[in-house]
Amino acid sequence: MNLNLQGRKAIICGASKGLGRACALALAEEGVDLVINARSADTLQQTAEEIRARTGVKVQAVAADITTPAGRAEVLSACPAPDILVNNAGGPPPGDFRDWDQAAWHAALEANMLTPIFMIKAVVDGMQARQFGRIINITSSAVKAPISILGLSNGARSGLTGFVAGLARETVADNVTINNLLPGPFETDRLISTLDLHAQQLGISADQLRQQQMQANPAKRFGDPDEFGALCAFLCGTRAGFINGQNLLLDGGAFPGTF
Ligand code: NAP
Repeated sequence: MNLNLQGRKAIICGASKGLGRACALALAEEGVDLVINARSADTLQQTAEEIRARTGVKVQAVAADITTPAGRAEVLSACPAPDILVNNAGGPPPGDFRDWDQAAWHAALEANMLTPIFMIKAVVDGMQARQFGRIINITSSAVKAPISILGLSNGARSGLTGFVAGLARETVADNVTINNLLPGPFETDRLISTLDLHAQQLGISADQLRQQQMQANPAKRFGDPDEFGALCAFLCGTRAGFINGQNLLLDGGAFPGTF
């Protein structure tokens, strides 16, 4: 299927590893030139080189913390008029809400709600003027089925979800769609390190816990980041212009609802 993305330009935040990297790679395979971002310069450069070597597209790496105004300005100056924006960053830490002070809440809101909103604010008017834009926010299955120890994530990401639900209805007439991708368990560094920690707390091996978690999923496995990247690329293509304001859950069917 031709997604008609050849020569388009994308900003992918949080793209040196995991789901962001998979989105970057899938878009590059469709001929999209990229600005990719993450904080650690070495890993980011390595990812940029891998994507260039595999796809031949232009990839600019901007090492910066996307949750800061300076970091966002750096990324945006490398690509002030993107056709595609993928918002992503690390998730907030787990814990008990009784331990979270104002600073903890502000950090979560800054990273997982306000940063995507400020990135959208910076690019959406230009996309509407050019009559093409695709914005994808990587959120979490926790938006649909909250996980109590991830209260900071549940709260901050729900705020983003509510905001973009309204905005998406204003931008689509100008061919700018905004959708959220909600990952369930995908095999990334983040999942593996969370699993290791959780296994230690339970006093079982990481492999035992891994097997338990995979068996608990209807698919009996974790998601492959490439599967996530493929949906991201499809949503960015011209054929997906009527999919707008949606929250698309990729979880192997773990959410137990009929729809
Ligand atoms: P990951 O493997 O840890 O990758 C995260 C990427 O984001 C890395 O490239 C990281 O690089 C970058 N990053 C983190 N904080 C950043 C910041 N402040 N500024 C710029 N870049 C930043 O994580 P992942 O599993 O792909 O998860 C991506 C998102 O999906 C997270 O928000 C996570 O909570 C959510 N999620 C993931 C899963 C899952 O199963 N994997 C499930 C539900 C939700 P640096 O550290 O070098 O900056």
